[in-house]
Amino acid sequence: MDKLIIIGSGPAGLTAAIYAVRGGINTLVIAGREAGGQLMLTTDVDDFPGFETGIQGPELMAKMRKQAERFNVRFIGEDVVSVDFSKEPFTIKTETKSLSARSVILATGASAMWLNLESEQRLRGRGVSACAVCDGFFFKDKVVAVVGGGDTAMREANYLSKLATKAIVIHRRDALRAQAALQSLVKSKSNVEFVFNSTVEEVLGQDKVTGIKLKNTQTGEISQIELDGLFIAIGHKPNTGFLKGQIELDERGYAVVKDEIQTSVEGIFVAGDVSDHRYRQAVTAAGAGCKAAFDAEEYLENLVSV
Ligand code: NAP
Repeated sequence: MDKLIIIGSGPAGLTAAIYAVRGGINTLVIAGREAGGQLMLTTDVDDFPGFETGIQGPELMAKMRKQAERFNVRFIGEDVVSVDFSKEPFTIKTETKSLSARSVILATGASAMWLNLESEQRLRGRGVSACAVCDGFFFKDKVVAVVGGGDTAMREANYLSKLATKAIVIHRRDALRAQAALQSLVKSKSNVEFVFNSTVEEVLGQDKVTGIKLKNTQTGEISQIELDGLFIAIGHKPNTGFLKGQIELDERGYAVVKDEIQTSVEGIFVAGDVSDHRYRQAVTAAGAGCKAAFDAEEYLENLVSV
């Protein structure tokens, strides 16, 4: 049995692992099939302290992982299928293993949300994507649109503006939510256009995207734009499907926490985007991972002393 199992290997999970092993706790990380989390899907990270000229997201995650391995953190590259937190030791089943632990840190992060249009889902991978870094290359010298008005949408539009002939940002309101610096960056690009007060009603195309049908939210007017690619950047949802009925979740699926880190089950802690819908930064996730490791350490010490 492992003393501590950490589920997730983004900045939250890896920071928790580094602190836990250095605190003398036997720690296993279930890294998941898509190890590294959302930073694996980004390029320039300019706001993580310590990298004065910025760093690529995947490189930052590789560095964190190597740091954890230096302290002999063990990793399993599988997804968790189910958990049983009703009794201690806690049980975690992966695709091929059944594991048990005295304490668990949940750091499974969040995934991109979709508009949930039938046409969008049908054309996913055929011109519809939620990751410009992954799929942008296919749209070199083509016309693309990005849906959303937040930081993610601005990052996607900025990235795509370097590849596509034109990137159109489509936002449902007339004001962007994104931080000012990102807004200015994207607005400075000559090949980025903005379409405000508009929602995508349908993605057009049979085998690949050929355009989109838009509705003006003020006038109800329907219009069409011809394009080759559509990038959805409308926010994220927490990866907590396997936790239903095990810990308390709110109506959006985020883990309900006490003191930031403690879930509704004693001995089960959370860190990062799985419970944080406000800050959602690599550095805040890493900070939460550190706190979760300290709290798990204290919990395990108290278990031994009773
Ligand atoms: P977000 O801030 O929640 O923005 C989502 C955007 O999508 C909003 O503009 C929202 O419109 C729009 N939207 C939501 N549902 C929609 C729907 N069904 N149809 C059309 N539009 C829809 O999400 P995010 O941009 O992914 O950012 C999430 C967090 O990560 C934020 O805290 C952000 O600061 C952080 N982040 C930071 C960076 C960075 O570079 N520092 C990069 C990426 C993300 P409304 O504005 O009308 O609500």
